[in-house]
Amino acid sequence: MKYILKKSDGTETVLTHDQLVISYNRREIDSSSLAKAEGQNEWVKVGVLLGVESTDTPRATSLVKCPACGKGVSSNAPACPGCGEPMRSSVEQASGALNPKDPVHFIGLIIVSLMILVTIIYIVKKLNAP
Ligand SMILES: [Zn+2]
Repeated sequence: MKYILKKSDGTETVLTHDQLVISYNRREIDSSSLAKAEGQNEWVKVGVLLGVESTDTPRATSLVKCPACGKGVSSNAPACPGCGEPMRSSVEQASGALNPKDPVHFIGLIIVSLMILVTIIYIVKKLNAP
C-alpha cells in the first residue's frame, strides 16, 4: 500500500505506509498535510489517514475492525493505521460477518442449554422425591 503525499510547496511524493508513519513521527510532515492512498481520489489529512487525528465530523465516524490485524480503524480511514491494509466498505464487512462457524456455535449453544435444562429437571425431581 502506497500513499501520495502533497507537500506544502505543491510537490507530490509517493511513500509507503511505514515511510509516512516515520516521517510523521519525525515531524517532517505536518498532520494537516494532505495525502491519499494510491488509487484513491480523495485527499485526506495525514493525521486522519494515520488515525491520530479525528475528522471534522467525529460523530459520523465509527470504528470498524481491520480485516488484517483486527485493530479498530475509523470507518473514514481509507486504510488501517496499524498495518496499512486498505479498508473495505461497511457493506462488505457485514457480509463477511456471516462466517461458516456460526451454525456450529449455535448448535453448541442449544446443546449447553439442553444440558442445563436436564440438570434442572433432575434436581427438581430429586427434591420432589419422597
Ligand atoms: Zn490493520
